[in-house]
Amino acid sequence: MAAPTLLELRPLGNTGLKLSCVGFGASPLGNVFGIISESDAIATVRRAFSLGVNFFDTSPYYGGTLSEKMLGKALKALEVPRNEYIVSTKCGRYKEGFDFSAERVTRSIDESLERLQLDYVDILHCHDIEFGSLDQIVTETIPALVKLKEAGKVKFIGITGLPLGIFSYVLDRVPPGTVDVILSYCHYGINDNTLEDLLPYLKSKGVGIISASPLAMGLLTESGPPEWHPAPPELKAACKAAASYCKEKGKNISKLAMQYSLSNKEISTVLVGMNSVKQVDENIAAAQELATVGKDEKTLTEVESILKPVKNQTWPSGIQQS
Ligand code: NAD
Repeated sequence: MAAPTLLELRPLGNTGLKLSCVGFGASPLGNVFGIISESDAIATVRRAFSLGVNFFDTSPYYGGTLSEKMLGKALKALEVPRNEYIVSTKCGRYKEGFDFSAERVTRSIDESLERLQLDYVDILHCHDIEFGSLDQIVTETIPALVKLKEAGKVKFIGITGLPLGIFSYVLDRVPPGTVDVILSYCHYGINDNTLEDLLPYLKSKGVGIISASPLAMGLLTESGPPEWHPAPPELKAACKAAASYCKEKGKNISKLAMQYSLSNKEISTVLVGMNSVKQVDENIAAAQELATVGKDEKTLTEVESILKPVKNQTWPSGIQQS
C-alpha cells in the first residue's frame, strides 16, 4: 500500500527526491529525549508513514546505535517497498567520539546498513562537521563518500552541523554537485531564523535544504528541554515564558513552532523528533492546518515579542567557528 500524500511533498535540491514537508527525526528512538519502548517506536513510525511522512533521519550517534536499530525494525514492520520511504543516516560522529577518516566512514556505512536492515541509504551525512577538520571533510571524507555513492550504498551526500559558516566553507571547496544536501538545525524556528540568510546561496549551489529541530530540541514545547540542552539560561527562560504564555491562552507553542518552520517552502523538509503517536498526530495536524487555514499570526506576533530579547541567540558547537 503506497503512503497517501496527505502531506505536501517538496523537491530536495537537484536530487530528484521529493520529501514530505514534515520529516521524522529518529533521535528520540535512541532514548535521547527519554525512554521509548520498541512497540511505541514501531507504532510511532507506522503512524507517521500512514499520514504521509516519507522521510526518516537517524545516526549511529543517537543512543549509541539504538536509534538506527529501532528505525530499521520499524521500517521493516511497515512491509512496504523500499522506494516508498527515504532514509538518511550519518557518519563521523559516534558515542566514542568523532572520526571523519575515509577508513572509518567507509566502515560506518556497512555497520549502519546492517542495523537499518537496508541495502542502501538515500542520504549519508557527515555528522556535525564543526567537530572535525573541515579541510579533512573536503579532501578525505567527502571523496570517500563519493566512492560509497559509486558503490550504490548511498544515493546522495550531505553535511550537517550547527554553525552556519561550515556549509559555505565546504560547498565552496568541493566540485559542484558533490555535496547534494545540507542539514541545519536550530536555525529556522521562532527563536532563531538565521538559516534564512543562507538560503539564496544554498539555492544557487543547487543544494537540498533540510531544517531540523523546529521545536529547538524541546525549548519550544510545554514540557521543556532535556537536561543536556546546550542553550544559555536566558534563552531557556525566555522559551519557557513563551510556552507558559501560550498555555495560558489555550494555545500550543509546539504547533506554532511547527507552522513557523514549515512556512518557508525553500526548505525541503522540517525534521522533527517524535516519540509517540500523539506527537505525530499533532505535528501532522499542524502542517495540515497551515496548508488549509494558515498560521495563528496573532499568537505568533505575541510569542515573537516575548522571544525578542533572545532572538537568534545560539550556543558554541565544535572545535572551530568558521
Ligand atoms: P526537535 O526540535 O524536533 O524537538 C524534539 C523534541 O520535541 C522531543 O522531545 C520530542 O518528543 C518533542 N516533540 C515533538 N513533537 C512534539 C509535540 N507536538 N508536542 C510536544 N513535544 C513534541 O529536536 P530534535 O529531535 O533534536 O530534531 C529533530 C531531528 O533532526 C532529530 O531527531 C535528528 O533526526 C535531526 N537532527 C540532526 C542534527 C544533526 O545532524 N546535527 C541535529 C539536530 C537534529
